[in-house]
Order: sequence, then structure tokens, then C-alpha cells
Amino acid sequence: MAIRNIVQIGDDTLRKKSFEVTDFGEKTHQLLDDMKETLLKADGVGLAAPQVGVLRRIFIISYQGQYLECLNPEFIKKSGEQNGEEACLSVKGKYGGVKRPYKVKLKAQDRYGNEFVVSATGFLARAFCHEYDHLDGILYVDRAEYVKEN
Ligand code: ZN
Repeated sequence: MAIRNIVQIGDDTLRKKSFEVTDFGEKTHQLLDDMKETLLKADGVGLAAPQVGVLRRIFIISYQGQYLECLNPEFIKKSGEQNGEEACLSVKGKYGGVKRPYKVKLKAQDRYGNEFVVSATGFLARAFCHEYDHLDGILYVDRAEYVKEN
């Protein structure tokens, strides 16, 4: 495993649309393991592949001591609304208020290509939306009602 560099706002990579994952082998597993180590060191909630310079539709979320790996994620359902604050490892030293759905249902593949469905509410739903946006080149600051310095 290795810690990868987290690219920062201003880098073009963060603004591109990521490509579908078609490789569920060693190279992707290595990327996922590196992303986990990178996320752990950065003490973050989630990390998307474009944040480490790889334009693939992959993100990971750390939740209650577990890592959830989502490859080729797609929202099946979004409902409700919540207001809250979020930050991003690619936008250092800031946080902002963003309106997100309260509840989401997401379909994705695991590192072996097996499909699964996951539902989330509140904080976790927010994390899914934030990470998913990265795969389309969107940052939370684009959606934020306000952005403040830490
Ligand atoms: Zn982010």
C-alpha cells in the first residue's frame, strides 16, 4: 500500500468526468488499498479516485470503522432534504453549507464487480452525494450556499 497525493482545487483533474471502471483486478485493488491508506492518514470521511488523480468512477467512505468501496455507483433514489456543513480533502482549510437529499439509495459494484445496493440517511447520505459529485467533476463549493475558512 502507498499513500497517494491528494490533488487540490485548481487542478483540472478535479473538474473532469471520470470513466467507468472495467478492470476489477489487481490494479484496481491496489488503487482501492492506496485510497484507504490515504483516507486514513488524511483523517477524512470519504475519498474519490479523481482526488488522487485517477479518473475512474470509484469512491470509498469510512463509516463506523468500516470502509465501503463503491465502483460505478448510480443513485436509484433520492428523497427529502437536509442542510448541513461539509468539507473536502481537496479544498483545504474551508467548509461550507450545502443542501443535500436526506435519504439516498445507491447501486454500485464492489472491487470484484459484484453489484450491491445500499441505503443511507443523514450524514452518510451527504457523504455519498459529496463523493459521487467528484466523479462528475463537481465540488461542494459549486453547490454551497456559503463557504467559510476554518
Ligand atoms: Zn471532496
